[in-house]
Amino acid sequence: MRDNRLFCVIPCYNEEEVLPETSKRLKVKLQELIAKGQVSDDSRIVFVNDGSKDRTWEIISSLHKEDEIFQGINLSRNRGHQNALLAGLMTVSQICDMAISLDADLQDDINAIDAMVEKYHEGKDVVYGVRSSRATDTFFKKATAEGFYSLMNKLGANTVYNHADYRLMSRRALDGMAEFGEVNLFLRGIVPMIGYPSDVVYYERAERFAGESKYPLKKMLAFATEGITSLSTKPIKMITGLGFMIFFVSILVLIYCLIRYFNGNTIQGWTTTVLSVWAIGGLIMISLGMIGEYIGKIYLESKARPRFIIESYLKDDKDEVDLRDHRY
Ligand code: UDP
Ligand code: MG
Repeated sequence: MRDNRLFCVIPCYNEEEVLPETSKRLKVKLQELIAKGQVSDDSRIVFVNDGSKDRTWEIISSLHKEDEIFQGINLSRNRGHQNALLAGLMTVSQICDMAISLDADLQDDINAIDAMVEKYHEGKDVVYGVRSSRATDTFFKKATAEGFYSLMNKLGANTVYNHADYRLMSRRALDGMAEFGEVNLFLRGIVPMIGYPSDVVYYERAERFAGESKYPLKKMLAFATEGITSLSTKPIKMITGLGFMIFFVSILVLIYCLIRYFNGNTIQGWTTTVLSVWAIGGLIMISLGMIGEYIGKIYLESKARPRFIIESYLKDDKDEVDLRDHRY
C-alpha cells in the first residue's frame, strides 16, 4: 500500500458562518477514513485563511487549539481562491502523501473523499471530482458555468468538464505543479498538464448551506478571462485569421471594382480608395496578428514552465540523479 498521510486543504474567505459545521463534518469523515486504515492517523485538515475580514481566522485558531487534527495557514492578505489553494497545497506538499482540495461551504460532497482515496491506493496521482449534475445551481450559474467550460475548450485551454477544484493530488503530482512558475496560475488548467495516471469521481453538487457565494458575476468573468488568457494564445491567432479573411475579401472587392471600372460607371478615384481601404485593412490585421504571435511566444516563455516532468527512471542504484528540468 502507498504511504497515506492525507491533508484536506480548504481555502476560506469570510467563512465564519460555515466553518463550525464544516470542521465538524470533515473531522467525522477523516476519523472514519483513519479507522478504516485508508489514511494514516496523523492526517490533517488545513484551513487557509485568505485575508478574511470576519472571525474566520479566530475560529481556525481555536479549532487548532482544541484538536490537533485541524491546522491553519494564514495569508498576509486576500489573494483570491486560486492563490489561497496553491499556498495551502504547496505548504502541505512537503509533509503529505496526498492532498484533497475542497471548498469551505461543503458544496463538494465529502462522501466522495472515500472513492478518491481508494483511487489513490489503486495508483492514481490525480483524482478529479466531477459534478454529475448541477440540479442545485441556479439556472444562471449553470448556464454561465457550462458556457465557460465549452468556451475554454474551444479556445484551447483544456480543462476537465464540470470539474472545479475538488480533487486529490499525490505528493509527486504536487511536486510537478510546483514546477509551473507562472504568476497567473489557473489550477484546473494546469493540473491536466502535469500528467501522471488520473481518474475521476462523480458527485452531486449540494447547495451552499450557509453564507453567500464569494464568486459574484464580476469575479466569475475575471476568472474566465484569466483562465483563457493564461492558458492559450488562441485569441491572438484569431486576429491573424481575421486579417487573412479581410485580405481575401479585398481580392473580391478588387474584382468587383475592376468590373465596375471597365463598365465605366464609377466616379474618378472611387476604385483606388475602396481597394486600398480593404487591402490595407487586411494587411494591418495580418501584421498585428503576426506581432501578436511573437508576443504570445514571449508570454509563454516568460512563464518558465517545466518542459517535462519525469515519472520514473530505471537506473543503477548507485547513481543519484535529480530528475527535475534544470534550466537556470
Ligand atoms: N475563497 C477564497 N478567497 C476568495 C474567494 C473565495 O479563499 O477571494 C474561497 C471560499 O471561502 C470558498 C471557495 O473559495 O471556500 C469557493 O468560494 P464560493 O463557495 O464562494 O464559490 P462558488 O461555490 O459560489 O463558486
Ligand atoms: Mg461554493
